[in-house]
Order: sequence, then C-alpha cells, then structure tokens
Amino acid sequence: MASSTEGAPQTVASDGKSNGVAVETPPTLQVSKRLEKFQTSIFTQTTGLAIKYQALNLGQGFPDFDGPDFIKEAAIEAIKTVGKNQYARGYGIPDLNRAIAARFKKDSGLDVDPETEVTVTTGCTEALSATMLGLLNPGDEVILFAPFFDVYEQLLAMVGATIKFVTLRPPDFSVPEKELREAFSSKTRAILVNTPHNPTGKVFSRKELELIASLCIKNNALAFTDEVYSKLIFRGEHISIATLDGMYERTVTMNSMAKTFSLTGWKVGWAIAPPQLSWGLRIAHSNLTFSTSTPLQWGAVAALQAPDAYYVDLAQNYKRRKDYLVENLSSIGFKVYEPHGTYFVMADHTPFGFDDDTAFVGHLIKNVGVAAIPPSGFYENASDGKHLVRFAFCKDDETLRKAVERMKIHLKPTSLKSTNDSAN
Ligand code: GLN
Repeated sequence: MASSTEGAPQTVASDGKSNGVAVETPPTLQVSKRLEKFQTSIFTQTTGLAIKYQALNLGQGFPDFDGPDFIKEAAIEAIKTVGKNQYARGYGIPDLNRAIAARFKKDSGLDVDPETEVTVTTGCTEALSATMLGLLNPGDEVILFAPFFDVYEQLLAMVGATIKFVTLRPPDFSVPEKELREAFSSKTRAILVNTPHNPTGKVFSRKELELIASLCIKNNALAFTDEVYSKLIFRGEHISIATLDGMYERTVTMNSMAKTFSLTGWKVGWAIAPPQLSWGLRIAHSNLTFSTSTPLQWGAVAALQAPDAYYVDLAQNYKRRKDYLVENLSSIGFKVYEPHGTYFVMADHTPFGFDDDTAFVGHLIKNVGVAAIPPSGFYENASDGKHLVRFAFCKDDETLRKAVERMKIHLKPTSLKSTNDSAN
C-alpha cells in the first residue's frame, strides 16, 4: 500500500538553508497530539489506489448506483422553492424530525418526541461526533468492539476518552462474554455498538444485546449505537438496543440516509435519544455543523415515506449480491465468513500466500485489478486482522461479475491448507 502521506509534503531537513540562500522546503506536517497516531483514512487511500490502477473498487463502502429518483426530485424541488434554501432549524426541519420519529416507531415500536428526542445531523458520522463530544469527558472509559469502523477510534481520541477494546473473532465474531464482563467497570461511561456490524457483517443477537444491556445497567453506562446498516439484513433480525428493558433512557440510536437509500454523499443522518441525552449532543452539534443541508432534509422527508416494499426490495437485491460474491470468493479459494447483514464480507486471504492484509491488497489492486480493504487497522492489535480482507458488494452486478472474473484469472491459492480461525 502507499504510505499515508502520499502526495503530501515531506518533513523538512534540519538546516533548511544553503549558503545563506533559503532552500525551498515544504513545511513540516502538523497535527495535534490527540491525532498524531492516525493516518489518512484507509478508505481514502484505497479508493485513490483503485483510481490510479483502474481497479474495480470493492473497497470503500459506497454504492456505484444511486438511490431512487423520487428522493432526488424532492430535493431538487426544495432547491427550486423559495424558503427551503436557508439554514435549517439546528436540530432538523420539523417535517424530518417527525418522519424520523414515525419510521423509528414502525421499526422499533418506540414512541419518541420529534421535538426533544430526534436530532438531524450531517450524516451518522456527525451524530457520532456530537454524541461523543456532547456526552463524554476526557478520561472517560468507553468500550469498543474490534474490528471497528476507524472513525470510532479517532473520534474517541478527539474526545480524550480511554478505549477498552473487546475483540470479536472469526468464524462468527460472537461477543466474548467473559472479556466483555471484564472490560466493564464502574468507570465505564459508555459502550459503542454497531449492528449490523462493519466490517464483519455480524448482526448482534438478542442474547448478546441483552448481555450488553445488563452490563450497561449494572455499571450505569450509556450505549451509543450505530445502526446505519439496519435495513441490510440477510439472516436474523435487527434489534435496536434502545428497545430492551431499561435501555432507552441510556441509549443514543444513530442512523442515516446513506446505506438505506444509496445516497452516501448526501450526509443526512440523525440521533435519537431521551431529552437529557439529546441536550448534550445538540450542544455539540450546534458547534460542529449547526445544521444540515435544508433541501437534502426535504429529500429525506420524501425518502422516509417510502413504502415498506422499498425496504424488502433493497434487502433482496443486496442478498443476491451477497450470495454471488460469497459463492465466488469461496470457489476462488478464500475462506469466507458469510455476513448476516451490511454490504461487506470478510474473508481469509492466507490461502494465497501473502504475509499480511496490506501485501495481499496491494497485489489485488495492482496485479489483479480489484480493490478491497485491508482490515488490520480496525483492530487494537493489527496482527488480529492481518489474515483478513474486506470486500464491499454495494456495487452493480456488472462490477461484481468483472471483479470475480479478474480474481478467477489472476488469483491462485498456493496451498489448499487454510489457516485456523483464531486470530494470530
Ligand atoms: N463506511 C464506509 C466503509 O466502511 C466508508 C466511509 C468513509 O469512507 N468514511 O467503507
């Protein structure tokens, strides 16, 4: 893989002058202490390399098709309408707050007040930022399951929280009860739950969520839950932890338009939480972005009125893509961990003989013409993820077919022996 600073100025040599004449040297890169251990996001790096090598991009998780026209048309209509192009109300246009509350009621059975418990944000990422900045203090302990979407770790670093990692391991990435119990203590301020889970495709079971809930209640901890893949379920059911006994009052439930409506570039998301928690996240939100694009909020109002058939269709289409990719990756020689939700699949690449995920993905992009994500950066210990690779199947049939074809031609297992399931 390219270095994360590819294309960026390099650190200046110490003298910076020669014979009294200033030598032109690029400035030293600067970053705050809280963020100095981080690099350019792996998604940005991989998409950059996919473009450079003209690889089919099964890396970054964005669909290569767009969401429905009726949603776009509602946004276009709003742009053309005087009065729908100035700042929106900070916590959302009233129609959208109501539409989100109505959809949440349909999905979870919970009644929430659109005015005091729903906050519209600029994507789920901003909902997460606002929640963490608005409800955590430096030094607070937060439990995070690994592998994790990289943004979580970096937002927690921005807040100055102390992360306690609990690792989910193949083949089923189930919650390790003993480790989770050990991670919780009276110092735990919150746990971050992402179900369905990126990158593993795991859907947290009721039993697992009940365990998490009981530990939150016992330790008086909050739950922050990212449910952006809630409509992409192939097996089991999506359960919002907020619906479990004693949890609503301590949970922030976050979601967005991105995955459900194939509009990742719109960046319209939301956070649902009881008034006392919404208060803190709203204070942070009003200083992060203040408000979210007004015409796109009108588009979101239209989207959330989609008939139930829309969601059935969406899940069926993704199941078809998932089945196709899983079956073909297996026949190519990967050991595949079949996802129960999301639009990602994790596979073990070790049959192909590469040292680690970075080396494998480098080969895949440059020599095979397919991009994927090396997931070792999603772990506390990179070695836990070095035998894995993540593919995204939110791509049209033709892209998936061509990617499979390229891998069938250019990837050959070096042995039929696959590694064991435990991380090493
Ligand atoms: N959530 C997307 C993924 O996992 C990427 C989002 C991003 O690039 N920030 O691929």
